[in-house]
Amino acid sequence: MSQARVLYDLQQIDTEIRAKKQRLGEVLRLQKEPAALVAAREKAQAAGEDLRQWQARHKALTGEIAAVTDKAKRSEERLYSGTVKNPKELTDLQHEIDALGRRRAALEDDALLMMMEIDERKGVKAAADTEVERLASEFTNASAALRQEQQTLALSLNTLLEKRAKQVPLAQPALLKSYDDLARQKNGLAVAGLRNNKCLGCQLTLSASVIRAADEGRLIHCENCGRFLCAI
Ligand SMILES: [Zn+2]
Repeated sequence: MSQARVLYDLQQIDTEIRAKKQRLGEVLRLQKEPAALVAAREKAQAAGEDLRQWQARHKALTGEIAAVTDKAKRSEERLYSGTVKNPKELTDLQHEIDALGRRRAALEDDALLMMMEIDERKGVKAAADTEVERLASEFTNASAALRQEQQTLALSLNTLLEKRAKQVPLAQPALLKSYDDLARQKNGLAVAGLRNNKCLGCQLTLSASVIRAADEGRLIHCENCGRFLCAI
């Protein structure tokens, strides 16, 4: 096998490796959670936190109502127990009971308003949770296909690398070095096919002497782009 063909075959392998590595990178990037899902999750978390704070406030208020109710009850018991005889003290007790009643009514109004706020926030949280579920399920379906593709890519890359390892020893070491240098300069394409008198690397028509040399299997460079040529 001519060195031109050896390098050309190596080029085919390397081009495929390059494309598959690039796609693998994309596939890995696409498997990251999309920004919309991350944002939806943060929103749901904030809604949950907001709801918890309102529920805690409501609980504290309920405790306060119970304390006021209890205090009023004890004062009433005292008022009707018959143990308090002093009229001034009895009047004070009655005033205190009235004040506690007003306080309780006000607190109960607050608690009612608070329950409405809580209901509204429950709705906000439920909507946010639904959106998270929707986006998460969308993402799960998409990532299943991507994971499959990732596996397929990894397997074919493995095969290609094995193929490359077998191909490399067929090339003369000095040519291999030129191949690597050229590949770096020419965006990964060091060897171009020669077909219909044209270099497929730069699409230019080549001179008769270059075409003849390539046809004879000699390793030659394209006069225009400088790549190795291989008649195909
Ligand atoms: Zn060329």
